[in-house]
Amino acid sequence: MSDLATTIVHAAEGRAQGDPSEAPIELTAFHVSSGDPASVPLSYGRNGNATWIALERALGEIEAAQALAFASGMAAATALLLALTETSRRVIAPRDGYYTLRLLLERLRSTGRGIEPVLVDLQDLDGVRAALTAGPALLWAESPTNPLLRVADLGALARLAAEHGSVMIADNTLATAILQRPLEHGAMASFASLTKAASGHSDVLLGAVATRDRELLARLLIWRTLIGAIPGPVEAWLALRGLRTLALRLERQCANASAIAEFLRAHARVRHVHYPSADDAVARAQMPTGFGPLLSFEVDGDASAADTVIERARVIRPATSFGGIGSTWERRGRWADESAPLSLIRLSVGIERAGDLIADIQHALTS
Ligand code: PLP
Repeated sequence: MSDLATTIVHAAEGRAQGDPSEAPIELTAFHVSSGDPASVPLSYGRNGNATWIALERALGEIEAAQALAFASGMAAATALLLALTETSRRVIAPRDGYYTLRLLLERLRSTGRGIEPVLVDLQDLDGVRAALTAGPALLWAESPTNPLLRVADLGALARLAAEHGSVMIADNTLATAILQRPLEHGAMASFASLTKAASGHSDVLLGAVATRDRELLARLLIWRTLIGAIPGPVEAWLALRGLRTLALRLERQCANASAIAEFLRAHARVRHVHYPSADDAVARAQMPTGFGPLLSFEVDGDASAADTVIERARVIRPATSFGGIGSTWERRGRWADESAPLSLIRLSVGIERAGDLIADIQHALTS
């Protein structure tokens, strides 16, 4: 079997006489059809599109599963929530994970949709066990977490969920399927915002879910079609093109991020660096080839000291989002609903030369 770095370059590509080198961008609202719509591969544009299908086949091949693409990461998350809370309404989610998920869960709770969020620390297995003991639930894992980069033991969490008659899904946005394989650790589904490293060029918003569970896939497809959270064909095409270079990009980004984390750990103006450590056995076993492009650090000082650091950079751009080829950073606490420490800067490390990035950070930290 090929290495994933090879698989990703050729995943789902055409090999027959006359096949185009790349999947065409299919801009169409319908496909000509009559009779039973189920008897034709494509009919109405909300039900399916050849460009998304090409992306989904490639994602599925990389995950050794089946994949569905969505209009954004949050669209994919919403479809997963709808599909997996049809019977049990309890959702156990990380207290320190991506904050928009917490906002979504809270909104569904407070507007009477019957969702019951239970926030936990995913590193505290006893706490997760206690939450699972209280009744069946969907366990929503995220590792490493955004923005604190905390690593949870996905295998242990999936086993705990199964012992309690529950299922676990994992948000794999930070690591992607190249660095971390949630389905192999027992997750029922692996979900990712393709807006980030997977597409890699900061030019699309998209999301995807991969699963080996056919029933879940069918339910997700129904929800996607009903709520219309479909990807645009141009975005799907861009994501597929970006995906081809994911392994190569991540190699550089992980090496850069490790070098920067080491530099920051020794810097007098830095209080704390958040990046998985090679001394962490769970992190090493779960992400054997690298810890990803995202790291966070706390500047010695208040929020305005961190803002000044961000403003001084000449290479790294001030922006949110992460995983793209160009480095960006932001003070995470500028978002009202984010719970990160006020002087925490979240840095998305790109593919530039590590030395240039370190020089830029050094300059920015020099007050
Ligand atoms: N999951 C994580 C960990 C994220 O960081 C994000 C976005 O930042 C999402 C999900 C949501 O993805 P999107 O912005 O594509 O909707």
